[in-house]
Amino acid sequence: MPGHVIILGPPGAGKGTQAKRLAETRGIPHISTGDMFRGAVQSGTALGKQVKAVLDSGGLVTDKIVIDIVRERLAQPDTRRGVVLDGFPRTLSQAQDLDELLHGQYGPVVIDLAVSDEDILHRLSSRRMCEKCGTIFGVTDGSFPSGCDRCDGKLVQRSDDEESVVRRRLEVYRRDTAPLIDFYSERATFRGISGTDAPDAVAAAVNSVIDEIAPAVGQLIH
Ligand code: ADP
Ligand code: ZN
Repeated sequence: MPGHVIILGPPGAGKGTQAKRLAETRGIPHISTGDMFRGAVQSGTALGKQVKAVLDSGGLVTDKIVIDIVRERLAQPDTRRGVVLDGFPRTLSQAQDLDELLHGQYGPVVIDLAVSDEDILHRLSSRRMCEKCGTIFGVTDGSFPSGCDRCDGKLVQRSDDEESVVRRRLEVYRRDTAPLIDFYSERATFRGISGTDAPDAVAAAVNSVIDEIAPAVGQLIH
């Protein structure tokens, strides 16, 4: 019984990479609110039109919109054995709403990935995303791969990875999201780990945290 896992951390901490790997390893869905919003923008839905400007500015989508899409997603039957949440919750109000959604279930395992601001600025300015499937690529040996190795899509810079927008995302993270560390760290199911190491090493740390905590997740949300 894997249960729910929340991956916290600043933009560029590697939440997406780790959440995706963890979801694959454990055989549970990966739910990224950022991916959901980018998908909506790309397909030009009403939701996409509503959130595009906010995403481009590096600000936050309103709690109401976010909680509505998460509630709908968590109501799907494939989430019953647990999910990996990436980019949600991002405000105290969203965290409280999540507790309400999980009422009567086991509390989520919360893993905070810590990375310095310097590393974040460097990582985000030097990454590219597949236009089609959303896979993120870092620079290796000073250059980018020429196309996506999964779907052959074109690699582009994410519109919010431009330096001024990254700085804004970091400010918003510090103001609205970092307080979640205090909110969750009082629980027995919280662990902070370094996100600075290579992805494989971080993934190993994430897995061992979950193996250690999951059997002991004796706390129901009330
Ligand atoms: P990152 O963590 O690298 O900033 P995400 O892909 O998680 O990227 O999110 C991209 C953008 O989508 C955010 O900057 C924000 O505008 C919006 N977003 C995603 N999740 C949330 C959320 N839970 N609450 C509010 N806005 C969100
Ligand atoms: Zn691709």
